[in-house]
Amino acid sequence: MHSKLEAQKPPVIVCFSGLDPTGGAGIQADIEAIKANGGHCVSLITCLTIQNTHNVKRLAPVDTTFLAEQADVLLHDIQPDGFKLGVLGSIENAVLIASIIKQFPRCPIVLDPVLAAGGGTTLVTNQLIEAIKQQLLPYTTVCTPNTLELQQLTSKQSLNQAAQSLLKYGVEAVLATGGHLADSTETLQHQLFTINQPTQALFSPRLTGEFHGSGCTLASALATQLALQKSITFACQQALDFTYQSLLNAVQIGSGQLIPTRRFY
Ligand code: PLP
Repeated sequence: MHSKLEAQKPPVIVCFSGLDPTGGAGIQADIEAIKANGGHCVSLITCLTIQNTHNVKRLAPVDTTFLAEQADVLLHDIQPDGFKLGVLGSIENAVLIASIIKQFPRCPIVLDPVLAAGGGTTLVTNQLIEAIKQQLLPYTTVCTPNTLELQQLTSKQSLNQAAQSLLKYGVEAVLATGGHLADSTETLQHQLFTINQPTQALFSPRLTGEFHGSGCTLASALATQLALQKSITFACQQALDFTYQSLLNAVQIGSGQLIPTRRFY
């Protein structure tokens, strides 16, 4: 008998994400972050994008029937241990994904509500934002908006009000990341909101520079840590630390935003 057969199976994270050909964000970020955190990524591509390290030019959703058939074939073969949801591409894809994740109530689900590219291009419509809130948040374990996304998702000015209004949709926790807040402190403060516990502040050192795929890195690392049975607070801090290291070691691949280096740190 081949001894490698006894190697331990890593947790399987199913990612619904877009393809960013730069390799900075989207599914490639997920694959790298999940692998580095000890998991295995299976990839369900929701959309293709035309972009470079400056901005997204165009997004083309994958046909929902095609995505449904791929998900069906995959999930009849591979048992997921967690899900990560990124750019969804269309309302039809969001509805399909909701119908899939509700079949796995024991799996942690991380939702990265990507609303715009770092370069500014909008990646959602108002109807898709509604679908994300109504259809996906009720099944989500942790939602990871930055402060801009939090405000856009809820139209609330205060961070606390915005997070509370997301929690009302049924999401277990909201990790509001502080990277987009204009501030000159050396430490970034993130807030973890949950229904039954006081809000917790989590920290990471502040970095200057623009990065392509920081949100994807965080959400995928977090999904893997949760699938490894870590508590929400511990998993969030681990994922923040991993993201910090990935950004600290980011490289200039194109002439725009830096691309994170996602490896085991
Ligand atoms: N996923 C895809 C396919 C993208 O193109 C982008 C941004 O351009 C993102 C996710 C979000 O990237 P970030 O992690 O920088 O928010």
